[in-house]
Amino acid sequence: MSRKARCSGFGAITSVPDVVTRRRFLGTLGASALIVGFDPTTRAWATSTGSRSVQRIPHLDGVLLTDLPTRQADGRDLGRIVRRLPRAVLRPGSVRDVQKMIAFCREHRIPVATRGQGHSTHGQGLTDGLIIENRSLAAIHSVGADSISVDSGVLWREAAHAAAARGLTPPLFTTYVGLSVGGTLSVGGFPAQNELGLQIDHVRELDVVTGDGRLHRCSPDRERDLFEVMLGGLGQCGVITRATIDLVPARGRARNYLLQYPTTDTARVWADLHVLLERRELDGAYILMFAPDGKTVVYQLNGVVFYDDGRAPDDGRLLRGLSAPASSAAVVDSTYLEWVERYDRVIDGWRRQYAWDDLLKPWFDVILPGETAQGYVSEVVPTLTARDFGPPTGIGFVFPQRRSKLTRPFFRIPPGNSEFVYLFDVLTSSPAPGPDPAFAAEMLDRNRRLYDKARALGGTRYPIGSLDFTGDDWRAQYGERWPDLLRRKARYDPGRILTPGPGIFS
Ligand SMILES: Cc1cc2nc3c(=O)[nH]c(=O)nc-3n(C[C@H](O)[C@H](O)[C@H](O)COP(=O)(O)OP(=O)(O)OC[C@H]3O[C@@H](n4cnc5c(N)ncnc54)[C@H](O)[C@@H]3O)c2cc1C
Repeated sequence: MSRKARCSGFGAITSVPDVVTRRRFLGTLGASALIVGFDPTTRAWATSTGSRSVQRIPHLDGVLLTDLPTRQADGRDLGRIVRRLPRAVLRPGSVRDVQKMIAFCREHRIPVATRGQGHSTHGQGLTDGLIIENRSLAAIHSVGADSISVDSGVLWREAAHAAAARGLTPPLFTTYVGLSVGGTLSVGGFPAQNELGLQIDHVRELDVVTGDGRLHRCSPDRERDLFEVMLGGLGQCGVITRATIDLVPARGRARNYLLQYPTTDTARVWADLHVLLERRELDGAYILMFAPDGKTVVYQLNGVVFYDDGRAPDDGRLLRGLSAPASSAAVVDSTYLEWVERYDRVIDGWRRQYAWDDLLKPWFDVILPGETAQGYVSEVVPTLTARDFGPPTGIGFVFPQRRSKLTRPFFRIPPGNSEFVYLFDVLTSSPAPGPDPAFAAEMLDRNRRLYDKARALGGTRYPIGSLDFTGDDWRAQYGERWPDLLRRKARYDPGRILTPGPGIFS
């Protein structure tokens, strides 16, 4: 690649001001402008093509960075537990760049992982090979009457605002919406709503670059094999570059009801949750757990209903028949978009106040069948101390989801006949920022114990959290789908270079 082409590529990254300061930008330019190829014999980047073994890197619309600060930044995730220094970082200027570099990496057996926002917590998106920074591809292509088409580096928050400008919304969101579309579609995207499935259940079409560098457009009717294995498929068979997602009419406002219970009153919070789920009158209901005094964990039942301006819901009717009177619920009224972004404000505050990004986050996440969820959570939560949550920023959740709405085969849910499955999260953070190997080890042990107990009760792992998982664990996780996953991996990623972080095939 000519020096001129590289410089114009570097110029493009100045449009991402939070990533590169001017000083670092110049340093980056100096460090990386010399890379012209890769030497497969030494497995190192080369600054000249003098040696016959050096393979020239393809011409790129974007940039390939090898400077240490960029590699270090992409060598860790939000968990701050696992570190893996990539050899290089691609900021693609086009989908073609993704194709070219994946083909190049396949040829030279360089592992590749895509980075959305890097908000996984246990190295799921890390590699010592090439990181593709998806955030460089973040265009909103179109907002139609019932769907939106976006690059996979777009954040859900951005998709929400683009849709809202037309009075529309994606049907559901994760609690925090500063996550990339590609990142949550690769894991699942569990919402607060209980009747609509996950984000992956609302995808119409995907563009995917597979492990041989080829670009595919897939949907339920076209290349279904690939479409299915990309949704909740942990990036094992390709890189999602673009997604078309359902939109529905948006209500203008949201009303959130909050009811608090001591954790000694487990039966009461579950009974009330079930009343709300069975009545199907709210748009969402879930349990939040936290330690407001830094010591004692409490349950908070959250219910939300969306409505149009001037048609305020009848609180007494919606909360009738619960163990506490409707008047005891705290009511938070907001615009719909404020509700969508409610946890973003919390996280932003934690970032400023507690250096939240640099806290260790040994998160624990399992999905339990309806038959055992209440028993499991009621047994486990009282054994958790405030240290397990990590006040002030540690929280836990129970998100119920109707089983019949979960349609994607590679999103692993517990077998069984229960109407609902329940995601149980303990979003632990360390008491202080910075390394703390003893805390990490203690919490990884705890997570293993809690996972083993959940698995014995029919639970599956929601693989966003921090858990050391063996090959046997993965085979158990995929169950009867394992041979099918192997087949699709062999077909779409024959060199087995994509997304080694979870260790599924190692
Ligand atoms: C504050 C907070 C709240 C959260 N709340 C929820 C919640 O309510 N519900 C829920 O389900 N989850 C929740 N999560 C978890 C979140 O959905 C996952 O961690 C998600 O993967 C993060 O998105 P990301 O853009 O950071 O992805 P990354 O961490 O960058 O990537 C996740 C994985 O997908 C791969 N990947 C990323 N992009 C692509 C792509 N384009 N193509 C193929 N593979 C790709 C990566 O290599 C990695 O293995 C939350 C996370 C945080 C930090």
